[in-house]
Amino acid sequence: MADRTIIGLVILLNAIAAGVLYQRFHDHPQVQLLESKALELYHTLLPPKTPDRCGAIKWPAYVLVSDRVVFPDGVRPGAVYISGSKIVDVSENTTVDMPHVLNFKDAVISPGVIDVHIHLNEPGREEWEGISNGTRAAVSGGVTTVIDMPLNSNPVTTTLAQLEAKKARAKVKAFTHVGFWAGLVPENAANHTVLAELVAGGALGFKSFMCNSGINDFGNVGRQDIAAALPFLKARGLPFFVHAEVVSPVETDPAADPTAYATYMATRPPKFEQDAIRLLVELLDADATPAAPGFSVHIAHLADAGALDMIKAAQARHPITVETCAHYLTFAAEDVPNGQTQYKCAPPIRGSANRQRLITAVASGAIDLVSSDHSPAPPSLKATDTGNFLKAWGGISGAQYLLPASWTALEGAGVDLLGLARLLSEAPARLAGLAGRKGKLAPGYDADVVVWEPETRTNTSVALNLHTHKLSPYTDVPLKGKVLASVVGGELMALFGNTNKQPCGTLLLKRD
Ligand SMILES: [Zn+2]
Repeated sequence: MADRTIIGLVILLNAIAAGVLYQRFHDHPQVQLLESKALELYHTLLPPKTPDRCGAIKWPAYVLVSDRVVFPDGVRPGAVYISGSKIVDVSENTTVDMPHVLNFKDAVISPGVIDVHIHLNEPGREEWEGISNGTRAAVSGGVTTVIDMPLNSNPVTTTLAQLEAKKARAKVKAFTHVGFWAGLVPENAANHTVLAELVAGGALGFKSFMCNSGINDFGNVGRQDIAAALPFLKARGLPFFVHAEVVSPVETDPAADPTAYATYMATRPPKFEQDAIRLLVELLDADATPAAPGFSVHIAHLADAGALDMIKAAQARHPITVETCAHYLTFAAEDVPNGQTQYKCAPPIRGSANRQRLITAVASGAIDLVSSDHSPAPPSLKATDTGNFLKAWGGISGAQYLLPASWTALEGAGVDLLGLARLLSEAPARLAGLAGRKGKLAPGYDADVVVWEPETRTNTSVALNLHTHKLSPYTDVPLKGKVLASVVGGELMALFGNTNKQPCGTLLLKRD
């Protein structure tokens, strides 16, 4: 009798818990979407104890089903079996004999997006962007892993102690997985002990600037610094992220209107990018250290399509990877309105013919991947009061829009859903040394998943912008690709525009 009472009580408690969960899914403004279209939520009883789950789904194991699962080799109806933090199986059989199934019908189930270029600026400049807001915005846009830049936090991440400070914060505040690039600066470029400490502390690779970074304690590297660091980076098989612009005197019109975008663009011509890439190739040619797998000189945020031929020629001799950003594929200089400094970044957004060449290069594989280079700053630093492009901080806010902006730009160039997953998940995972662990929907991989509707327009209104600052060139831009759900390491972190209350992200550290 006592046993039956306990069982009855457990069933009752489970039913209440299930009701709460169900209510949570209903507790958002898009409830009709739930009823009508995207999601059938089947569940019987929740398990009696669910101590390990942090996300909105409390089941230890569950299955995601849809008519369009992006498998590593193609898109087909399928089921993704998740247990704990891992994908334990994938199947083309959509008849699932399990109690906990989320059927997303004709929505697409893709590997979670990995944004290898984001500035979370914590500690020290949380008023620009922080780990909580930055990763919450990212996860609401389908990004499940971010790799944080060593600046503009204060201090910058150039020593182990500084990396540890970031790790401690990310561990308790992140809504996505967070990895770290360490800074390679003149102070540590030749000090391989400091570099090795950063790697031992979990840094996935290094980032340098070849021009003024805008941050005083993150100096730019020159020829000697890069030459001193290359043997270490190559021997250890580490990616070397480079902001490739070498600044030289340019003739500009001192009377030009500083609120005109063209005035800013003239100060950073394509030559800066080409000179930097030429120097990098020269330094690679001069270094005889054998490169271990994993090493590449990674050209961050390529804006100038004119540099692609030079890169292609050098790739025959050296591991060089290339990234561009969603904003270079979305916007064109001719369309930037006067005074709208939210478009300012470095290198600058260039003309529409250049944009088209970048899109073609991404579609053909000449550019390896697309990132957000999310790098916001407070409106005062963006000179929003004067609209002065020459005074405004350079950096675009857009982590939340990486997936829809990339899709919108690339779909017309022949990139399909599998191609997009390769650009936004698989190639970024490879760059960061995470291949075999992330970037695909396959057994044994981390359960990082985005569920989205490629045909549906996403809402880019300011009201739904979750970044710390709402100023973004993507505001009200018609982007296709609406994210329905994001799963981070098995934890449901976003559903229908709602994000999980608790941050359930984990640290992503280098494993040797
Ligand atoms: Zn950046």
